[in-house]
Amino acid sequence: MQAATTPIVRDIVLVGGGHSHVGVLRMFAMKPLSGVRLTVICSDTDTPYSGMLPGYIAGHYDFDAVHIDLRRLAEFAGARYFRDEVIGIDRSARKVLCRTRPPLPYDLLSINIGSTPQLSRVTGASEHALPVKPIRRFNERWLALLARVRAHAGPTTIAVVGAGAGGVELTLAMQYRLRGELVALGRDPDNLHFHLFSAAANILPTHNAAVRGAFERVLAERRVAIHRDAEVVEVAAGRLQARNGETLAADEIIWVTQAGGAPWLRDSGLALDGEGFIRVRDTLQSESDPLIFAAGDCAALIDQPLEKAGVFAVRMGEPLANNLRRALLCQPLRGYHPQRRWLALISTGDRHAVASRGRFFARGDWVWRWKDWIDRRFMRRFTELAPMTERAAPPVAETIPLEKAEQTQAISAIAMRCGGCGAKVGATVLSRALANIHPIERADVLIGLHSPDDAAVLRVPPGSALVHSVDFFRAFIDDPWLFGRVAANHALGDIFAMGGAPQSATAIATVPPGLESKVEDTVFQMMAGAVEVLNEAGCALVGGHTGEGRELALGFAINGLIDEGLLGVLRKGGMQPGDVLLLTKPIGTGTLFAAHARLQARGRWIDAALEAMQQSNRLAVPCLIAHGATACTDLTGFGLLGHLLEMTRPSGVDAEIYLSELPLLEGAAETAAAGILSSLQSANVRLRRALRNQPEALLHPNYPLLFDPQTAGGLLASVPAAHAAGCIAALRGLGYTRTASIGRVLPAGGAMEPIHLRT
Ligand SMILES: Cc1cc2nc3c(=O)[nH]c(=O)nc-3n(C[C@H](O)[C@H](O)[C@H](O)COP(=O)(O)OP(=O)(O)OC[C@H]3O[C@@H](n4cnc5c(N)ncnc54)[C@H](O)[C@@H]3O)c2cc1C
Repeated sequence: MQAATTPIVRDIVLVGGGHSHVGVLRMFAMKPLSGVRLTVICSDTDTPYSGMLPGYIAGHYDFDAVHIDLRRLAEFAGARYFRDEVIGIDRSARKVLCRTRPPLPYDLLSINIGSTPQLSRVTGASEHALPVKPIRRFNERWLALLARVRAHAGPTTIAVVGAGAGGVELTLAMQYRLRGELVALGRDPDNLHFHLFSAAANILPTHNAAVRGAFERVLAERRVAIHRDAEVVEVAAGRLQARNGETLAADEIIWVTQAGGAPWLRDSGLALDGEGFIRVRDTLQSESDPLIFAAGDCAALIDQPLEKAGVFAVRMGEPLANNLRRALLCQPLRGYHPQRRWLALISTGDRHAVASRGRFFARGDWVWRWKDWIDRRFMRRFTELAPMTERAAPPVAETIPLEKAEQTQAISAIAMRCGGCGAKVGATVLSRALANIHPIERADVLIGLHSPDDAAVLRVPPGSALVHSVDFFRAFIDDPWLFGRVAANHALGDIFAMGGAPQSATAIATVPPGLESKVEDTVFQMMAGAVEVLNEAGCALVGGHTGEGRELALGFAINGLIDEGLLGVLRKGGMQPGDVLLLTKPIGTGTLFAAHARLQARGRWIDAALEAMQQSNRLAVPCLIAHGATACTDLTGFGLLGHLLEMTRPSGVDAEIYLSELPLLEGAAETAAAGILSSLQSANVRLRRALRNQPEALLHPNYPLLFDPQTAGGLLASVPAAHAAGCIAALRGLGYTRTASIGRVLPAGGAMEPIHLRT
């Protein structure tokens, strides 16, 4: 996450991480526009590069070779990345509507979401056919198909519906791969039968006769049955029927026909063409809304029909980036003029390809090598990314024209930043931001946000005691909603670890100054995320304070209630020798986020870490109590060793940790091995003095993770050995799937160092 040095004055929101938007991100990375914030929202962190997909299916490339890591690319570009699915646009409010997070405002919006298979037009296709788009789902199903074919002893029939370049290439790639798999297993590859269905008389109808002839021959040699003039009109389980009366029994039916626009575009009010794609001018601006741009398959250039091909989506990236920039600078936009002929390099599955451009035709292994070289060069532009500090900051001469009121707000934001002012966020901004946030109401909150006063007043029911805790930290990710969720979950962790039930919370936040509308949205997003989590925990937000500060930061003072009879049940000091040490969530957030900032972490590792950080410890506590847990704490900044020592010391015991059994977040082993560690690590490492056999354990790959500071970590608990296996199974059943036994409690020995590491 890179801190902005000037206030944000305009927001460009990129919907979808298609081939055009990855180009836009790269261009803005090379030439940022001061005061402009880019946010990319995409359902898939790993966005596929279509040109290499057949090579991936054929087994020539691995998954990462053919996918662009959007989270990492966005970090490189200084852009925000939100993994979510866009489900609509509120054009009057200028907001993007997402499946899981609150609406997000935009000044300019750009859409690059590809196309959607129109399965609903054919009876039974939605239920029984496998569409190639979205690629993520196709990949999951393709891997399942691979496993099925490997496991299935008899013949397998695969039908591919759609005989354009995509369908033909996919058929040959699948066949190449599956035959290879069967040969490797010592089975007969001729047990595989492929059928290709074409609605037209010809395959590859948009390519020249030589190209078509070459593929006809390849398909015939490989015994792929071509069904011509055979538009598939009905699909049932294991069977399809064409309009010409042909039927086929098939084990798998793959759908690669012409697709249409995403259904939600229809409700946007944007002008669409007959297939549901967004009609755009040559400036790539929507015909009906100048604030909205579109590119790639989802855009339909008015009066210039284009084939839906990744090559055009890629080419649109640069003009799109330039026009987004020019639109904000109030400069005239420039037209995009697609090439009339374009080069298609279509592979035959076996490291051989055919070149097609207008009437040009060539084929050979060299064409595949040429395609491979072009594709790898393209991918390098998005994978070989130097961190911001290693790039020269380009001079920014352009200034975004602002309205008068905005100018005043921007100037005062800069002044406040320089003065390091900790002033309160304006009352109007705050009340507008909080107006749409709805904390739960509780009967024991006598005075709270529903009737605000100088302070909140709470009732502690007879027989209950108050559990109180406070936490506060800086945003570690440029996503206020997600940060709000993690911050609230982190703060609640202490109450759960004590066996308490959260009752009420007061928030304290700092928000960087800026235009009122931007500050308001940041506060709204952050508090909306936090209140969702507090509400789920039954915790009422009863008050708070928001000030301006250099960085976004959020903390909570939380009150919980605990039955006085349960007091002490889950203290840190109750460990008993012989107990088993359980950890309910994997560790590694510190090293992963340090690596993310250095562009050294895969986006999907960060996705998974963020998921883990949002998982509440709420359900784990009653389970631990039911299994007789003797002590418990939640893992946060001091790391596993620090928190374990907080338990062994008051318990008067020693402990042993099984280093190899530590559950790690995906990627944490790699980033720690690369020596990338959190800035808090060195403070935690001082605790190595508590290790009895530190020199011996030092070389174990998991050793650094003992000190890794956690955000919203899991629970570390000691459970009597007799109940440990049952407790682990129960916790896994509750969703803490990575719960592990990571050590045991030992009687206090004579040694000065209480912790032994088993390597
Ligand atoms: C098997 C096959 C092979 C192909 N081979 C080639 C080839 O060699 N060369 C070529 O030029 N073309 C090829 N194509 C065509 C090519 O795939 C498409 O033209 C190209 O992918 C379109 O790119 P795009 O940027 O418009 O969208 P896409 O590449 O489809 O990207 C859209 C992105 O938006 C995301 N998204 C979608 N909906 C939402 C939403 N609601 N909210 C958030 N995010 C969303 C998706 O997750 C995805 O990351 C092939 C197609 C197939 C099926």
